[in-house]
Amino acid sequence: MAGLMAGRRGLIMGVANDHSIAWGIAKAVAAEGAELAFTYQGEALGRRVGPLAASLGSNLVVSCDVEDPASVDRVFSALDEAWPDGFDFVVHAIGFSDKSQLKGRYVDVTTRENFSRTMVISCFSFTEIAQRAAGRMRPGGALLTLTYGGATRVMPNYNVMGLAKAALEASVRYLAADLGPQGIRVNGLSAGPVRTLAGAGIADARLMYNHQRAHAPLRRTVTTEEIGGSALYLLSGLSGGVTGEIHFVDSGYNIISMPRPEVLKA
Ligand code: NAD
Repeated sequence: MAGLMAGRRGLIMGVANDHSIAWGIAKAVAAEGAELAFTYQGEALGRRVGPLAASLGSNLVVSCDVEDPASVDRVFSALDEAWPDGFDFVVHAIGFSDKSQLKGRYVDVTTRENFSRTMVISCFSFTEIAQRAAGRMRPGGALLTLTYGGATRVMPNYNVMGLAKAALEASVRYLAADLGPQGIRVNGLSAGPVRTLAGAGIADARLMYNHQRAHAPLRRTVTTEEIGGSALYLLSGLSGGVTGEIHFVDSGYNIISMPRPEVLKA
């Protein structure tokens, strides 16, 4: 199939179901001719991800829990076998924190144990994957992760995830500097709130969606198809000169400071 991604192979990490951001990205790049491999976390999700992958022509579907480095190694061994001459991109759409700590004041609820776990799963895993992917990627390759505006501004209840995303965004810059000389680009997509399994873990997520709809310049939330379109840009040659960037796909929400006067007066 001809297209922007024709001849390119990539790994999609983080599909849980057809509402996942990673699934929106997979559809967008597959429609442009990319050949895909997928990871899934645990057998229950695997039963969903297998058929989704098959619907895009992929039967390369590997179990991966990023808390277990051996499981990450197994993913790359499977890729070595299937794609011995390398691949071109990785999408990292993985995040987790104990949801009892995504509620209330950060200062009150955050524990050392969950702080570390959140950082390993939601932040360090991107570095760990980049370490394994870099030597196997072909020049012109791209790594992409998913972040959120709570990295740089305080969002109620986002708490320790905001700290993990801040560190993840810093990782994008350090990895971009390190891997740029070998022709690998590293970027982040900062998506507005989307109704997914992970999104639902944040207390009062519904109020975040409503606030976005009321205040974002486009007066709506974004779709996973729109996030997929931006990912296609960052993974394809269209963004060949772009690395180390955090690109917002949030209906413009990040540019707004105070609400409009008519909202304040209401
Ligand atoms: P999702 O629940 O569909 O996807 C999250 C994925 O993370 C799941 O596939 C899950 O299996 C995976 N995961 C969690 N712990 C893991 C582990 N230990 N090992 C391997 N995989 C693990 O939700 P989503 O909203 O599509 O999330 C994808 C990414 O997008 C996350 O990084 C999330 O923080 C980010 N993001 C989400 C939103 C939103 O509003 N939903 C906004 C901006 C950024």
